[in-house]
Parts: sequence; C-alpha cells; structure tokens
Amino acid sequence: MITLFKGGTRQLSKNFNERELFSKSKDAPDKHEFPQALLEALQYLRDLSGSPIYINSTYRTQANQDALRKGGNPYAVKHSPHTKMIAVDFQFLKDNKENVQKFHAFVEGRTYEFKEMRLMGVGGFGLYDNFIHLDTRDGVNHEPARLHDGIGRFQIWDKRT
Ligand SMILES: [Zn+2]
Repeated sequence: MITLFKGGTRQLSKNFNERELFSKSKDAPDKHEFPQALLEALQYLRDLSGSPIYINSTYRTQANQDALRKGGNPYAVKHSPHTKMIAVDFQFLKDNKENVQKFHAFVEGRTYEFKEMRLMGVGGFGLYDNFIHLDTRDGVNHEPARLHDGIGRFQIWDKRT
C-alpha cells in the first residue's frame, strides 16, 4: 500500500502523481491508502495504450458512496471496494472506446496482458462501456472472488450495455 496525503504532489510512477490518485470525496480524510498493484497496473495500461489516463475514482468515503447511490448512479452499490481503499476507476483520454475494448479483450481472452495484471496483484476486473474498474480483492476479504488461477482468486464482472 502507498499512503497518499491530501495536497501531496509526489510523482509516484512515470505518469501518475499523488494528486490525481488522491480521493475525490468531499469529506476525504487527510490521508488514505492506495495499492501499489493498482499503480503498477495503471502505468502498465498507460504504456501499452500510449494514452494518458484520467482517474475517475480511487478511495470513496462511505458518505460519498451513499450519495452516489441516492443520486441514482446505476453502478453504485452499498458495499464497494472503493470504500476499502483497494479500487480504481479510470478511462483513457485518447481513443477511450478502443482502449477500453482492448482491455476487455485482455480479460476475456485471459491474455498475456491479463496475466501480467494478475501477477501485479489485481483481483477485480470490472468491464463497463466507457471506463475500467480494477481492485486488489483476493477472496480473503468479503469481496466476491469466485474465479481462480495459478496465482489465486479473482473476479470479473460485465456491466456493458
Ligand atoms: Zn469502481
């Protein structure tokens, strides 16, 4: 885990800094955690795609999560891995649709790229039309992880329309 600080400006990898990975929740605490595995996966997909990545969400406070649900966001569930500091949602700033579709092909094909992300420690793969969700569930905490490979347990879900 990496500890991120509010107002921090550290460069955490070649293309990602502390500020963009810090929680966007209005009531975010002064610091929170973010998994190293997800930073590695983000940088990997940044390098593969050649596209800058926009981070939609990392840690969300439960109040933020509840507000999303009450606001009618069809994707917002009550118990989200975002509230446990183990998840990220993001999209590509260049050719988003094509790059998201390539990611879907990695996951569905269990390709080399998918295995690389599994080896980094990614355990949750959310397939959506316009963005990607990744998290570090491993089947030990209560996030469902019903699939398994040589590395451990993981979960894929498909919310494409
Ligand atoms: Zn998400």
